[in-house]
This record gives sequence, C-alpha cells and structure tokens, in this order.
Amino acid sequence: MGYDFERGRLDLSAHPFTTSFHPTDVRVTTRVHEHELQSCLFSCIHEGGHGLYDQGLDQQHFGTPLGDSVSLGIHESQSRLWENCVGRSRPFWRFFYPVLQQTFHDQLRGVDVEQFYAAINRVKPSLIRVEADELTYNLHIMLRFEIEQDLIEGKTQPEDLPAIWNRKMEEYLGIVPSTDAEGVLQDVHWSFGSFGYFPTYTLGNLYSVQFFEQAKLEIPQLEDAIAAGQLMGLRRWLEQKIHRWGRMFTPTHLAERVTGSTINPEPFLKYVERKYGELYQL
Ligand SMILES: [Zn+2]
Repeated sequence: MGYDFERGRLDLSAHPFTTSFHPTDVRVTTRVHEHELQSCLFSCIHEGGHGLYDQGLDQQHFGTPLGDSVSLGIHESQSRLWENCVGRSRPFWRFFYPVLQQTFHDQLRGVDVEQFYAAINRVKPSLIRVEADELTYNLHIMLRFEIEQDLIEGKTQPEDLPAIWNRKMEEYLGIVPSTDAEGVLQDVHWSFGSFGYFPTYTLGNLYSVQFFEQAKLEIPQLEDAIAAGQLMGLRRWLEQKIHRWGRMFTPTHLAERVTGSTINPEPFLKYVERKYGELYQL
C-alpha cells in the first residue's frame, strides 16, 4: 500500500485506530484474534488507509487547515477504499493469496483463492457494527442515526434506548442481541458525546466507491496492476487528488473536483449489486 514505516509504526491495541502527530509520525494499531485471520488482516488494511491519508498531507502546511484532513467522512473513505475496494477484491487476492497461503500453510492448504474470496465477502446479519460485512454495515449506521436524531429531538429518552435498539435490530437485521453489551452499549461514541459521528462511516463507504470508480477510469489497467501486486499507482493517485490538498476544498467540492459529482449513492449501489450479485448468483 505504500504505508511508510519510517514515518509510522504498527502496534497492538484492544481496538484498532490511527493517530497522527505530524505527517512524519503517523501510527496505526491492530488486534490479533489467534483463531480468526480476518480481524487483524482487514483492520491493518483499514488503518493503513487512514495512515496513508495522514502521511500524504503536505508537511509544509503542518499546523494549518491546509495541513489537516478535510473531514471524518473523507478520512473514512480512504480506509474503506483500501479495505473493501482493494482488500476484499479478486485482483488483490490473485496476487497476495499465494503469499498468505505460504504464511498460513497448514490452515489454508486446502482452500483455493475463490473459496477464500467468497469467505471474506460472506454476507450475514451480525450484532457488532465493526465486524459487519459491506452490505449490512450501513444498516447498523441507519439504526444509530435514527436513534440519535430522536434523542436530540426529545422523542426518545435515554432509558428507552435498549428496547428501541433491540426493536430496530429485529426490524433491519432480523436478529436481537442477548445483552446490551452486544447491543446499545457496544460503541464508545455516545458515551463521550459524539452524536452525529456514525453517519461519517456511511458517507465514507459511499465516497470510497465513488473515488475508486474514478481511479479506475484515470489509472490505465488499475485492476491488472493490483492483480500484479502493484499498488503504488493508486496510492499516488489518492495522494495527488485527495491527501495533499488538506482542507483547501470542502468535502463536497473535493468530491466534485475528483469525480465530477458531489456525493452520490449510485456508484456504491452499482458496486454492491455487481459484486454480491455475482457472488450470490442473484
Ligand atoms: Zn476508520
């Protein structure tokens, strides 16, 4: 991906995150579940995407708005682009799967690349947002956004949240948590007053596909390059088009400059229909 370890490092933490002190010191963390490969693998790619944004900011503008990332939604688009559009794609694994197989020889010996691709893109309603697949993820956000709007408008009282949460989970995902730890208490955001934060994740999902589709138009044979393990073309494109500009443009204006359109759900909808239509033969 081009994450520069001379200007950053990777450590362990309970919850993966990225923290940046300067474009020359951008640190990422991950967690390791010894019997589950995906969590560590995709959180590294995800945080790596955040890290590339912060490493790609223009150093000469450090400490000013021009040296800062433009919004949480755009930040999340960078992590999700690498995690999903690249890291959960066939071209990426065409190159990297043999490497992974060598590393986890005993575990992956009998699994071919198509089986692996299907496994990392399995769609299944789940209780925990951060572990949700690309399709159900946005339903977790919708549920939270509706609840926080009702809280702010006084239509809902905090003591009613567990019941409302469970009802909406049943309605949108068809499953109900057995404890509030797996339900309304699973995220840290509301407890420290971050209301209105959750939608940035879905904005990031929409932007990520919109940017990636544009990159495919502008970088010749991008998917062939990815299938050959060459990721630097994409990394440079993102740096030139997005990272280096800091807060020069609003997110809306930036999306328009890069893709010719303000935020638009169509590319995301087409992408998931194509990808999951093929995977699930719909
Ligand atoms: Zn993120």
